Amino acid sequence: MFHNHDSILVQEYASLGAPYLAAVPATPLRTPPSLLHLNTELASEIGLNVEQLSSTQGIDALSGNTPFPGYQSQASVYCGHQFGQFVPQLGDGRALLIAEIRKGKQYRQLQLKGAGPTPYSRHADGRAVLRSSIREYLASEAMHALGIPTTRALSLTASADPVFRETTETAAIVCRVSESFMRFGHVEFFCYTNQLDALRNLLTWHIEQHHPEIDLGESEESFHKGLLAWLKIVVERTARMVAQWQAVGFCHGVMNTDNMSLLGLTIDYGPYGFIDGFDIDHICNHSDHQGRYSYRNQPRIAHWNLYALAQALSPLIPDSKENLQNLLDGFADVFHTEHSALFARKLGLSVEQGESADTLIENTLKFMHEHKLDFTRFFRSLAALNPQASAADNFAAWQKSTFFPLALGDEDQVNNAKLWLNEWLLQVNKQVEVSAWQAQLNLVNPAFILRNHLLQNAIEQSQQGDFTEVNRLFAALSDPYSAAQLPAEYTAEPPDWAKTLVLSCSS
Ligand code: AMP
Ligand code: MG
Ligand code: MG
Repeated sequence: MFHNHDSILVQEYASLGAPYLAAVPATPLRTPPSLLHLNTELASEIGLNVEQLSSTQGIDALSGNTPFPGYQSQASVYCGHQFGQFVPQLGDGRALLIAEIRKGKQYRQLQLKGAGPTPYSRHADGRAVLRSSIREYLASEAMHALGIPTTRALSLTASADPVFRETTETAAIVCRVSESFMRFGHVEFFCYTNQLDALRNLLTWHIEQHHPEIDLGESEESFHKGLLAWLKIVVERTARMVAQWQAVGFCHGVMNTDNMSLLGLTIDYGPYGFIDGFDIDHICNHSDHQGRYSYRNQPRIAHWNLYALAQALSPLIPDSKENLQNLLDGFADVFHTEHSALFARKLGLSVEQGESADTLIENTLKFMHEHKLDFTRFFRSLAALNPQASAADNFAAWQKSTFFPLALGDEDQVNNAKLWLNEWLLQVNKQVEVSAWQAQLNLVNPAFILRNHLLQNAIEQSQQGDFTEVNRLFAALSDPYSAAQLPAEYTAEPPDWAKTLVLSCSS
């Protein structure tokens, strides 16, 4: 009913049933929900009908007030390592799978977040507040537009139902979309509850569904080989995803193994943050007192999480300890290659420069850190430079540019910037076509990122019933590389109040 003629509702994952999934109905809201935003482009892309989704029936389905026609909603069980500690049972405590849509080869799951309690809610209410739902809705689409693998957001519905956090807030529901919402924690759960046959079946399903190129074969030996081939892909995708986070200054905030996607997608947007003034030790999650999930630590933690995943797989691949170790060791290489390539491009260097580029990348980040330079504006400003001009001419042009990131009154900063500029001029290839080179930089360095204070404005206005700002942000984030079309305050340095903004971690 909600899908177009070119797509069908399927039950491929749902048919796995127990012990992986529990059929759980959503809990209707007491006050009628309204549709705050529908991602019409995504709806059409996955084969859903925009008009029908926007109708009262559509809004009811997108908020869990009524089931998605023809589908029984499901919650899945997983566990995980939270802040390094093993937690034996977690699961979809407030997420419900409400549909699986197939359009030809394309397969997508729809999941409501905040549609009421499930068997995995552990005494929590199964709800999500408007504040955190706006944050997830906008962030997933912002990451997608930046070319970073992520779950997507289809709709944002809300009602006046009270939800109790530090203060009384109101309920909202994001309908998110992904090929799969499976986490490292799904694998961990069936390992640590010693359900190894169930684990094997789940992995077989997952690999056949999402990695048809891997042949698990009929024999034990081919199964082991297939599983190792799959793990290699997970390691590589995770490494590349985190390198991409680093390259836009994104901090996830809660990199627990239950928030790590088996497909290498960014998932579960909570207290995440895009860095304004660069601090390599930036911690976006205020409950993360040790800085376990700081910007600097993200790659190391991703690697640690992959160890936890491999550990949980090891009972299925006995005698493969050495192979597992080799696969995990591969993380560093993939991460480093991707990280170097991304930052080399951001600096306008040729990716082939290797180690000399690496030194400049490291020194650039040190310089930015020392002066807490705005991460996004710094890189965006580089398109004002000219590899063929002198240092003095470059500084003059830089200083006049819209995104100039330095405080001219800070002598120390200006002197260091000049040293940095000299070092950069030594590394950058002078044999370029300058305007093409500049245009290329603007395609890799976004003018706009979803800064916390912009989100905060949108949230506060929405809490007063005005959703204009959510709509404006949504429109802007779909094209973060085109500065001309963006409101000036979206690309400006954050105001002073943003520097002391403390986000509530409850959601
Ligand atoms: P998170 O830290 O948000 O990734 O959540 C960790 C676990 O707590 C997951 O199993 C969530 O489903 C569950 N959870 C978080 N908030 C709620 C809530 N309000 N109601 C039920 N479960 C929740
Ligand atoms: Mg989570
Ligand atoms: Mg200074």
